Amino acid sequence: MNIVRRGLMLVLSSPSGAGKTTIAKSLLKQDKNLKNSVSVTTRSKRYSEAHGKDYFFKDIEEFIRMRDNEELLENAHVFGNYYGTPKEFVFEQLEKGFDVIFDIDWQGTQQIAHLARNDLVTIFILPPTLQTLYERLESRGEDNVETINKRMQDASAEISHWPEYDYVIVNENFEKSLEKITAILEAERSKRTRQIGLAEFVNQLRQCSVQTSE
Ligand code: 5GP
Repeated sequence: MNIVRRGLMLVLSSPSGAGKTTIAKSLLKQDKNLKNSVSVTTRSKRYSEAHGKDYFFKDIEEFIRMRDNEELLENAHVFGNYYGTPKEFVFEQLEKGFDVIFDIDWQGTQQIAHLARNDLVTIFILPPTLQTLYERLESRGEDNVETINKRMQDASAEISHWPEYDYVIVNENFEKSLEKITAILEAERSKRTRQIGLAEFVNQLRQCSVQTSE
């Protein structure tokens, strides 16, 4: 049975190193109805990242051109670099009935909320301690000490935005966090207002005759 549903936009935000990228990757692996919004950024590529998969890496001129040409759904300046969400991909996926997941910061979340609050589900991921955050950033081995220290300094400001989110998860245990987010996604998909094909389904249901044993 396929009841037509409005696609939703699922935002994961957190300070760097709280584990949201790992959670997002696992969600995408286990859920074929979920599509990843690949952002554009002016940040340099980390060695483990691939252009077009983790980000579209652009120079500042190209980023500004995209922004001024209204090709971005939202954009922000984070840790000295520009980040933004290509609009066309998101709208195409939602139109096809897919849900879209975003790994973006609080500034981008606020901008999308302004445009489409009813289609948005927001989750903030907190680390259990600041020490864990530091250790995760360090063990990733992809940022230099200066960058890590900068990200630790910015973590507190990022964390202060937790009250703006629909759900907050303390990522103490990866499996449990993934389970909770999977449950949130399923509940949000089941919301009456998102199941736009429900009226038709219920009408058909009520018209069906029932064969009784008598
Ligand atoms: P990173 O450089 O570690 O990949 O990301 C740094 C921060 O930028 C993270 O908090 C991430 O969520 C945020 N970010 C990544 N892409 C976007 C985007 O397209 N828009 C906004 N607003 N933030 C983004």
